[in-house]
Amino acid sequence: GMPGMPPPVLAERRKSRKIKVGKVDVGGDAPVSVQSMTTTPTTDINATLQQIAELTASGCDIVRVAVPSADDAEALPAIAQKSQIPVIADIHFQPKYVFAAIDAGCAGVRVNPGNIKKFDDKVGEIAKAAKDAGVSLRIGVNAGSLDPRLLEKYGKPTAEALVESAVWEASLFEEHDFHDFKISVKHHDPVVMVQAYELLAERGDWPLHLGVTEAGPAFQGTIKSAVAFGTLLSRGIGDTIRVSLSAPPVEEVKVGIQILQSLNLRERKLEIVSCPSCGRAQVDVYSLADRVTAGLEGMEVPLRVAVMGCVVNGPGEAREADLGVASGNGKGQIFVKGEVIKTVPESEIVETLIEEAMRIAESMEGD
Ligand code: SF4
Repeated sequence: GMPGMPPPVLAERRKSRKIKVGKVDVGGDAPVSVQSMTTTPTTDINATLQQIAELTASGCDIVRVAVPSADDAEALPAIAQKSQIPVIADIHFQPKYVFAAIDAGCAGVRVNPGNIKKFDDKVGEIAKAAKDAGVSLRIGVNAGSLDPRLLEKYGKPTAEALVESAVWEASLFEEHDFHDFKISVKHHDPVVMVQAYELLAERGDWPLHLGVTEAGPAFQGTIKSAVAFGTLLSRGIGDTIRVSLSAPPVEEVKVGIQILQSLNLRERKLEIVSCPSCGRAQVDVYSLADRVTAGLEGMEVPLRVAVMGCVVNGPGEAREADLGVASGNGKGQIFVKGEVIKTVPESEIVETLIEEAMRIAESMEGD
């Protein structure tokens, strides 16, 4: 893009209030953050910290860990202390673990009012403990565990039912003058989920945590999440996101970051502009794109690399990109910042692109 010009976005951000999850701001003008959840037993402190380190390296901003038992609660202090990113304890059923998580130094606690019996009676105590410790909460309403009272009223977890549950619990915390919480209203159906968040966004200025729950295996879950988050974020709704996949959590983070980058809500780092190939292709575009992507993985500077199969759009896209190749006749024309710098045989395209990318990255880091 043009230097100095911020890239276009689809909507102004909804005005939400800002809360802190440890060192990460959520809501207000804070960038939309990406969350994930560990899959290791929380009691296995080393394995959990190892996974958190991998998540951190992949760009995860905030991590959540499950706390189903007293043993898990006991592991929290070590995990909260050693994690490089803020840790949120995920609590269902047992309010006592909420207090344990706060005492353990977790940055946040997720509570599910639908799963905690007599939750409403505990709100005052939870609000006080959280406020004293500077811990923020998430009121996490889920279609699969909706408050039985609302399930009875609505017959099923409709968007309205999810929102009524969330707004009710929010009001209880607010009555105790506690405001440091975000809200989620997750549903497995992206359409119901979008409707729920749209309704919720109208009802207050709470920061919103987006999620399509039980979104499925990687391919389906990625698409469901991208469609649902894309719809909401393109209307300015959403302050932090979690992609739920039946896949390793690092994959969730990659998808989440890619969704934000696609909407220009996060700076694009490595971006491969590659063509789908067609009957005109004079090179194996799939393999070329894969090898270039693999060779440049982990690039920390924004770089757009065009990998094009022929001369129809090749030189045009390659010229627009920081770096690119337009292939034809067994050769690749290598472009850097719009200029052909050399023509190499097909077998040397990948290594040449990687070499040039590294050179550009170094010069950018030096800026
Ligand atoms: Fe086909 Fe060439 Fe377009 Fe690639 S750049 S899709 S090979 S016409």
